[in-house]
Amino acid sequence: MKVEIISIGDELLIGQTVNTNASWMGERLLDINCPVQWITTIGDEKDHLLNALAIAEERAETVLITGGLGPTHDDITKKVVCQYFDSNLVEDKDVLKSIKERFAKRNVEMARVNEEQAMVPEDAEILDNDEGTAPGFLFKKEGKRFFILPGVPQEMKSMMLRHVLPGLEEILSTGVVKNRILCTTGIPESTLYSKLDDLEDLEKDAKLAFLPNYLGVRIRITAVADDKEQAKQKLDAVEKRIRDKVDRYIYADRDILLEEALHDLLIDKDLTVAVAESCTGGLIADKLTNVSGSSKYFDRGVVSYSNGSKQDNLGVSEALLQKHGAVSEPVAAAMAEGVRELSDTDFGISTTGIAGPTGGSREKPVGLVYIAIADEQGTRVEKHIFPNDRRGNKVRAAQAALDILRRRIKGLL
Ligand code: ATP
Ligand code: MG
Repeated sequence: MKVEIISIGDELLIGQTVNTNASWMGERLLDINCPVQWITTIGDEKDHLLNALAIAEERAETVLITGGLGPTHDDITKKVVCQYFDSNLVEDKDVLKSIKERFAKRNVEMARVNEEQAMVPEDAEILDNDEGTAPGFLFKKEGKRFFILPGVPQEMKSMMLRHVLPGLEEILSTGVVKNRILCTTGIPESTLYSKLDDLEDLEKDAKLAFLPNYLGVRIRITAVADDKEQAKQKLDAVEKRIRDKVDRYIYADRDILLEEALHDLLIDKDLTVAVAESCTGGLIADKLTNVSGSSKYFDRGVVSYSNGSKQDNLGVSEALLQKHGAVSEPVAAAMAEGVRELSDTDFGISTTGIAGPTGGSREKPVGLVYIAIADEQGTRVEKHIFPNDRRGNKVRAAQAALDILRRRIKGLL
């Protein structure tokens, strides 16, 4: 099926808002084996929308339009689409009722402009909005579908998931498409690729895609089959073959962050952790506490940036700092041990390094980071040299620190 997305909004053209709606939609459509062919972005301009609709009608079978559905003067989508499909706006009592209820629930007085949102095209199906007030619409014309969705990402997503994707999946009926994401970390894409040396053979059963970022590489497996069970079997088989080669790098079999995977591991094993951060500046603590329920296992984070703080707060000896310097294996170890003792947790984790771009030397280049983990079995330190800018090095060091914890808990270190 040929699919086009039309994104509407001046803010998208001037670079004020990144078009995350289109990328999210593209990903979801690919999930159901329906890759998007065109993404057209236009401003809040009547003639441009009429023109874009005509082009899309010519070349696509399903058109997804987002943005400009709201009640303000710059929101022209509804009126223009009505003009295009020669449809009148009529008041819909149910929509009006649900908008009124939404405001009443929040104890907010409804503005007059919101009543306007109950005016709907008489020839369209209404897609209710459970995240906001503006309903979406579906126009059908000569076998083609035009979905009109809100621009607010949360509202668009909910409508896509509830109204658009299930319907398209049914129409596509190319069999069942199932995706699975294996999240890896601590292994570069190229190494991963070479370890999975029989990719061609693997791809007989399912398609593989590598999705790298600073946090790791996600492997997306896509299987097409006659029914759900068969698709699942294909995914299982491919996953097993991947795990046979790179299992130690895989932290989840769904698209989650490492800290979310750690949440389950730590709770499951009833373990606690504290962190002592120098070059990551609190990023590890931030990541851990982004997960709801982290108070069950996260005790504290000490951001220990100066030598003085490493001594005062973590008990690192002056002699050690003098002898090896703050960015060194022994100091990383002492920091991890220090914070573990201070907090009486199962694990103490530390980072010390040179985030850059200044401060590097021949012996200690920019990107050098020592990461340590201390537990009752002893202390381990790993040395990394990250090649990125300051933020990138911090992000990667924090991820590597979380991964040292994962590997320690899983007995891989
Ligand atoms: P509202 O009722 O809020 O006016 P709307 O359907 O009219 O909703 P817009 O006015 O186009 O939507 O956009 C509302 C907000 O949603 C924008 O401020 C912007 O932050 C966000 N937004 C709109 N389009 C996109 C997009 N393509 N990608 C990401 N965010 C978007
Ligand atoms: Mg708007």
